[in-house]
Amino acid sequence: MAELNLVLLGPPGSGKGTQGERLNEDLRLPYYATGDILRAAVRDKTELGRTAKGYMDAGDLVPDEVIVGVIVEALDSDAARDGFILDGFPRTTPQAEALDAKLDELGRRVTAVLLIDVTDDEVVRRIGGRRTCAENGHVFHVDFNPPKREGACDIDGSELITRDDDNPATIRNRLNQYHEKTEPLVDYYDQRSVLRRIDGEKDPDEVAEEIRRTLATMRLEQDEAV
Ligand code: AMP
Repeated sequence: MAELNLVLLGPPGSGKGTQGERLNEDLRLPYYATGDILRAAVRDKTELGRTAKGYMDAGDLVPDEVIVGVIVEALDSDAARDGFILDGFPRTTPQAEALDAKLDELGRRVTAVLLIDVTDDEVVRRIGGRRTCAENGHVFHVDFNPPKREGACDIDGSELITRDDDNPATIRNRLNQYHEKTEPLVDYYDQRSVLRRIDGEKDPDEVAEEIRRTLATMRLEQDEAV
């Protein structure tokens, strides 16, 4: 089977994390969520974490050179040989170019970019109720995707917390950063014919189903092209 190199694109709160976890279970491909990687580094007080913390708390993007190295190294590993799922990377044009350059070097390319579309109003509404598992970043929502047991992650049982940057002031800045720096990637990937739009305003099961259908159609198209 052809390798599947997937990118999840969309504003904060669009459901990239929720869908990324499901894809990770369905496809058994390594899942790299840069926000989770950076939060773990902050928690472990590594050099990466110390550099990233101030940017993250303000809702700004960390500098490209800080994050590109982390992803390039991950994709060079054996684990990512048959494909990968990227969530939260790339977030700028230089990051997308660095990803292309690395994949090019490995004789590979991005297979599909799933743009999870939601409006700013919906983002603001969702982020208020978002709860994140302290240990592994699994995502829940108090109303739309509640855990089976209040305050505990369904998957690993760890405590559910509100992220430091999930507050109204920071979320506004994160949305601004998205529109200014990340949204140009919609065109970038559309021009390369790998962009697939997903309606992210539906409930998580329906979004997951649309993603499944999209990937299945894409595979059929690929098979026909061979
Ligand atoms: P997320 O969990 O994806 O919402 O990311 C949380 C925060 O981590 C962002 O607001 C940024 O400060 C930082 N971050 C995550 N991924 C990237 C990236 N690819 N480039 C720059 N900053 C990032």
